[in-house]
Amino acid sequence: MEQTLFKNYTRKKILIADDEEINRQILASFLEDEYEILFAEDGEKTIEVLRNEGLSISLVLLDLLMPGINGVEVLKFRQKDAELAKVPFIVATSEKAMEIECLRLGAVDFIAKPYDAPEIIKARVKRIIELYESLHVIDSTIEDPISGLYTRNFFRLFVEKAVEGEEKEFDIIALRIGDFPFLKEIVGLNSLYQLVSNLGSFLKNWSEIHGGFASHDHDDLFFLFIEKQPSYEAFYADLEKELLSRRNGEKIHPKIGVYPHIGEGSAALWCDRALMCCRSITRDPRKKIAIYDENFHQTILTRERLIRDFDAAIKEKQFSIVYQPKYGIQEDTPTLNQAEALVRWNHPELGFISPGVFVPIFERNGLIQKLDAYVFKEVAKQIHEWKERGYRITVSVNLSRVDIYEPDLVDSLCSLMKENHLSTEDMHVEITESAYAEDTITLKEVVSSLREKGFQIEVDDFGSGYSSLNAIADLPFDVLKLDMAFIRSMDKGQKNKDVIALVMDLAKKIGIKVVAEGVETKEQCDFLKSLGCDYVQGYYFSKPLSPKEMEALLEKEQKK
Ligand code: C2E
Ligand code: CA
Ligand code: CA
Repeated sequence: MEQTLFKNYTRKKILIADDEEINRQILASFLEDEYEILFAEDGEKTIEVLRNEGLSISLVLLDLLMPGINGVEVLKFRQKDAELAKVPFIVATSEKAMEIECLRLGAVDFIAKPYDAPEIIKARVKRIIELYESLHVIDSTIEDPISGLYTRNFFRLFVEKAVEGEEKEFDIIALRIGDFPFLKEIVGLNSLYQLVSNLGSFLKNWSEIHGGFASHDHDDLFFLFIEKQPSYEAFYADLEKELLSRRNGEKIHPKIGVYPHIGEGSAALWCDRALMCCRSITRDPRKKIAIYDENFHQTILTRERLIRDFDAAIKEKQFSIVYQPKYGIQEDTPTLNQAEALVRWNHPELGFISPGVFVPIFERNGLIQKLDAYVFKEVAKQIHEWKERGYRITVSVNLSRVDIYEPDLVDSLCSLMKENHLSTEDMHVEITESAYAEDTITLKEVVSSLREKGFQIEVDDFGSGYSSLNAIADLPFDVLKLDMAFIRSMDKGQKNKDVIALVMDLAKKIGIKVVAEGVETKEQCDFLKSLGCDYVQGYYFSKPLSPKEMEALLEKEQKK
């Protein structure tokens, strides 16, 4: 019983079989939000996992070319096993010629290498899992044994039946109660079952009162189908009360996403939209309810559009780079020999788009690695040109937290320096502090090898949230960049000024340089100077400049 109960709470499993670590990472980054990912680095391991996990695996992504037992042989192994033959396989190959052979061996679909179309891959994975599930839906149960609510497939089926020819308007609600693995740790498995069981009764009751029904999808995810409601505040308050009465002091922060007035489309689409909405607020502790409205719809469409337009944008050089000066402030007159490179997107139809919009989108699907590689290349060329013309300038580039998984990162940066006759002193690398806070081993390794090659590392956005003073001393880096919010806080009172003074003091003690970002006024600049801050970057001195403008400024500042 324990075994089957447990299965209801685990996410669907996908096995990624590929001999290259980077490929496994990329595919996992596309899918890990929704699925539990298992990995195999060769054919032997793939077979071993298949033997152990059997039908608990919902789908396998199989690389055809692997050393030892290759993908074709894995497919042959699968075919001989009646149980395993029920698990769908998607094959990754760059050879058209192999596709027929793979179909013959039972593969259901193909994805092309390199893996650079996350939306397509995600959609195919989802479609195939759903297809295979619907094939087996006859075998599955209508009600989840613990929550007493409908299971996913039946819920969707019933929703579509319920709206057929119906005049009334309905809403779909996606409800997440929180981090299941974490809850399991703190309340224990039995209490978790109890919680789900109680919540199930509550949701069933509530949805029936409102002319609908509810489902337990998986893990902490529930869906409700109910008659259109004017507001969900009262429901949320009742839900919170219910959870509060059941939990033993541990915190649960449910989130709900609402897809209102369902019309065209399928139950799967409506549930997806409610869930997208729910996800959009998972990181914001202040938000409890999100409604799918026209604005949200436009945001989703824009996101998809930007991803679609990325390749063309690189090809057509729609991305440009601006340079924001960092002035040294410890001498009598401010000096200019450093700058930060910032990317810009001039979209032919959407106009100017800020990196604050597209960088987070591209970080979620690996495109940021391509973009940053392009930025690094352009910046290296630019520094070379400026040096040729006799200017002294060190430029820092922004490294995304995702870039560190690119195995060639350090080598390709070194080659760039060589090709452009630069030394590692000409380019600094900025890494945001929150990446440090995630404390990945990979990050530390990458930072160490960059520093071994001579690159200086600047910790970006320090003071924007995660920082702790003692963390500074432990981390491998060379320059500390105080976040704009930190600088602004000093206008609000003496206490904040004291904190900045303390950080500066500590930085001096351990011998690192400090750059203050977002400095907008003379008062801020003077105060920072009095504390011994080395560099200032911000509108007080200059906005980010086009290469031409930057060059004119260098001419004025360095050749006067
Ligand atoms: P960041 O690295 O913290 O960059 C500083 C941001 O503050 C820039 O915004 C800059 O224009 C803005 N700023 C500078 N001085 C002032 C000031 O005095 N007042 C105000 N209000 N703002 C100021 P931008 O260029 O929009 O960049 C936003 C973020 O996008 C950057 O934050 C960085 O995280 C990311 N980003 C920009 N370019 C790249 C890139 O090439 N690669 C990667 N991975 N991320 C990038
Ligand atoms: Ca930066
Ligand atoms: Ca920053």
